[in-house]
Amino acid sequence: MVVPGFQDAHVHAPFAGRNRLHVWLNDLEGRQAYLDHIAAYAAAHPDQPWIIGGGWAMEYFPGGTPRKEDLDAIVPDRPVFIMNRDVHGAWANSKALEVAGITKDTPDPSDGRIERDPETGEPTGTLHEGAAYSFQDRFLPAPSREDWEEAILEGQRHLHSLGITGWQDAWVTPDTLEAYRSLSESGGLTARVVGALWWERKRELDQISEFLTQREAGASHPEGRGGFHPTSIKIMTDGVLENYTGALLEPYCDGCGGHTDNHGLSYVERDLLTAAVTELDRLGFQVHMHAIGDRAVRNALDAVQGARAANGASDRRHHIAHVQVVQPEDVLRFRELGVVVNAQPYWAQMEPQMEELTLPFLGRDRADLQYPFGDLMRSGATLAMGSDWSVTTANPLEEIEVAVTRVDPENRQNAPFLPEQALPLQVALAAFTAGSAYVNHDADGGSLAVGQRADLALIDRNLFAVPSGHVSDARVEMTVASGRVVHESDS
Ligand SMILES: [Zn+2]
Repeated sequence: MVVPGFQDAHVHAPFAGRNRLHVWLNDLEGRQAYLDHIAAYAAAHPDQPWIIGGGWAMEYFPGGTPRKEDLDAIVPDRPVFIMNRDVHGAWANSKALEVAGITKDTPDPSDGRIERDPETGEPTGTLHEGAAYSFQDRFLPAPSREDWEEAILEGQRHLHSLGITGWQDAWVTPDTLEAYRSLSESGGLTARVVGALWWERKRELDQISEFLTQREAGASHPEGRGGFHPTSIKIMTDGVLENYTGALLEPYCDGCGGHTDNHGLSYVERDLLTAAVTELDRLGFQVHMHAIGDRAVRNALDAVQGARAANGASDRRHHIAHVQVVQPEDVLRFRELGVVVNAQPYWAQMEPQMEELTLPFLGRDRADLQYPFGDLMRSGATLAMGSDWSVTTANPLEEIEVAVTRVDPENRQNAPFLPEQALPLQVALAAFTAGSAYVNHDADGGSLAVGQRADLALIDRNLFAVPSGHVSDARVEMTVASGRVVHESDS
């Protein structure tokens, strides 16, 4: 079966590629497997001053927070700093905390938390949100341009092997912008990539002038290839539910049937968000907003509504990624405002993180409002899809299987998660091709037609002829990007 090349509407190719070249825990399961791998990696790389990487899952640690002592036992002499799979927290050893000067007297940053021992107050080795990001920015050795180029190529290799020929990078920094541009000019970038420039949440509208410069300087439109288009702005409006930083309208539950007074965090307050989206819309930027909690989703929709009121209709194709908890009265607004649903369908399944770290703290009523992709489809909203790799698998066939079944492909006997929100196969397939191409302003991609750029994926079976629960048994045999074969399977 030949389909248009898949387009991933929300992916972190440079970071994922970089982790794949360092400590890559994504394919491992369990605390001991992680520690064995990190120990082996450290032993094999005695000259590396830092041990870095990512991919651990919260579910393998009590309360979702791993401890420094585990790392100290295997790497006592060098700093270790490893992001979790969600990229919302990091696991550090004592040496790393020491390098950063983090002690029991260090206050929490305003946008994050240092996990502490309840008795001694000592940092335990988990850094949440802003505490992890500022550590990363200030203390980790900065990758060179060549490092980033290598990382993007490694990410691209993996994405091409899964039939992906284009994507939207959901976190472009000045460094990765430069690497993308240079790879596009040299011909190394065979995918078509839209870059979402990163909104610094501690700054205000003054940063927009820098985006104008970056949009100009970073763009690359080579003849005969898709090129690189830094035309989107990523605004992370809230955190995630698993560590209570997702922004909710009503407070979090306490896990034992009561409630707390914590509503989560708005990283960009509602009024500033509206001002930002309005100004970016006016300047021709697309806005790509991360919104997890129902308050974040509502604020994001309100911001686009504000932009529409100020600027009139536009064809920027603003989109909201993740859309985890959506109040029913907000579902229709996506279509009304022309906001694209950027869905990560793989997350819409019952798995340990959902069961242990999300449901008890959301409570019954809100638990049923999660990932309402079926309702959004029925409302007429445009759907795009993406993986958020390396948060979760980059394989579109696995993601599409969950979109149509709402069941973990590795545990197909499980009960479906809110099955009324499942999508028909043709809808999910269209979202992962035409829908994502739409959000990427890619008029030459996302469909099979004479005159389109030849972005194709050849699949080893007809997806419509297999039971819909088994989409991910299929394999991509060949990937073609801009008319060139960029991946062929061994078979
Ligand atoms: Zn992301």
